[in-house]
Amino acid sequence: MAKLVPLFSSSKGNSYYLSGNGNAILVDAGRNAKQIENALFQNDLSMNDVGAILVTHEHIDHCSAIKVLAKRYALTVYGTKGTLEALFEQDKIDSKTKTEVIEDEVAIGDFGVIRVDTSHDARESCGYFITTPDMRKCSFVTDTGFLMQSAKEALKMSNAAVIESNHDIEMLKCGPYPYILKKRILSSTGHLSNVDCAVELPKLVNAGLTRIILAHLSEENNKPDIALSTSKKSLDNAGFVMNKDYTMAVAPVETNGKYITF
Ligand SMILES: [Zn+2]
Ligand SMILES: [Zn+2]
Repeated sequence: MAKLVPLFSSSKGNSYYLSGNGNAILVDAGRNAKQIENALFQNDLSMNDVGAILVTHEHIDHCSAIKVLAKRYALTVYGTKGTLEALFEQDKIDSKTKTEVIEDEVAIGDFGVIRVDTSHDARESCGYFITTPDMRKCSFVTDTGFLMQSAKEALKMSNAAVIESNHDIEMLKCGPYPYILKKRILSSTGHLSNVDCAVELPKLVNAGLTRIILAHLSEENNKPDIALSTSKKSLDNAGFVMNKDYTMAVAPVETNGKYITF
């Protein structure tokens, strides 16, 4: 059985713990090291269980603890070539940080990791399709202006998925953000809206996805109940019943002790 614990999710910081058969990895580490250690502790977990860190891109909300954690626990940081170069240039990792480029796919211990494409205003952002040591499949697709083909395919093959549901389009348009920032978020290299997430979900549940985590919600331009109801409505309309055909939750800004198994 695989276990997925959302530790942090918002534009303030993102990090997920994924384990199976006693092995674990982190996807992103976008708070400081102490906060991530504490979040794991609150879930009766520890960085000592973690074998590697996967990073999706170089924006600070995904990588702020990477240099410290990699050094403290002698971990390798995995990412695309562009992301690792950007992290190095921005001093978010240094020459002592052990890194490995993910070209297409890589084995990390007993985890199989395939990168999937995301469309984001970063050097070479990606998401991940991960097969856990007990052969469960999980996708991480956040920070993407739209769902690209490889991401859609990965999500369809997944038992569990962390998928972006960043903003309610009307809240964003009417909200306090400056025009230039609104334009960035709404662009094809920005963030995925509630509606764009919701539209895709029936196809994914139909293909076998049963555990959905809506992630990277904007604190200004979204609310957990709006994200949830938008996606639930889309799945209702397709005839799928929540808590029977699938479960769905919002990844919390900070861990609330909840996790999923699959
Ligand atoms: Zn982000
Ligand atoms: Zn980003």
